[in-house]
Amino acid sequence: MRRLPAGRCSGVQIIHGVTISPALLETLPLCAYHRRMITCGWCGTHYHSWKNQCDRCGGRMPPPPGMELGPSPPPVPRDLPKGFAFRLLVSQNIATIVGGLMFAVATPITWGTLQTKTWAASIPGLMALGGFFMLRYGLTTAGSVLRAFRKGRAAEGTIASVKLDTTQSINNQHPWKVVYHFMVEGHQHEGVLVSWDSTLISRAAGQPLWVLYVESDPTQNTVYPPYR
Ligand SMILES: [Zn+2]
Repeated sequence: MRRLPAGRCSGVQIIHGVTISPALLETLPLCAYHRRMITCGWCGTHYHSWKNQCDRCGGRMPPPPGMELGPSPPPVPRDLPKGFAFRLLVSQNIATIVGGLMFAVATPITWGTLQTKTWAASIPGLMALGGFFMLRYGLTTAGSVLRAFRKGRAAEGTIASVKLDTTQSINNQHPWKVVYHFMVEGHQHEGVLVSWDSTLISRAAGQPLWVLYVESDPTQNTVYPPYR
């Protein structure tokens, strides 16, 4: 293995490779972003060692990377940890926040400029309309995921690929994009999970995971337990 300068993270190099075993991962010089932190997908609490259940919210944690599927999801209707639905729908939903703000700000301005009966009203009007559709998208998308969590059928899925999602970044760091497959009545379906969870680096293609899907529409699906 090529030795890296002291203090320099090797995360960027290794993620463009392939499978990294947990043992090898421990030997690599990694920054906080790439270091293996176990994060509760329900509430975001970080842990240094693996746990089955989150101390803070009581939510089930994913099994360690490997070929272990973990226990099957509980029967429906499933209770979700307190606060999870609000975070998914509102406080951690960029589309809901931005769309809601745009709609809330532009709607009264549109109303005011409409009194002038000029074309000036069309600019805030378009903003309000854009905000409305963004808000609706955020709530609809999160609602589908919540429906799958609460009432979805469980299926055994497998990870198809784990890559960096270079279409988005925060502080020059990219989240992970996990593509997974699962079967419903003989048909293969695909789902995508985007997460900042650094343990995903060691989840190779072929590893099993539980998928929850809405029976009438398997395109509405999510991984159980969740990643964040
Ligand atoms: Zn938690």
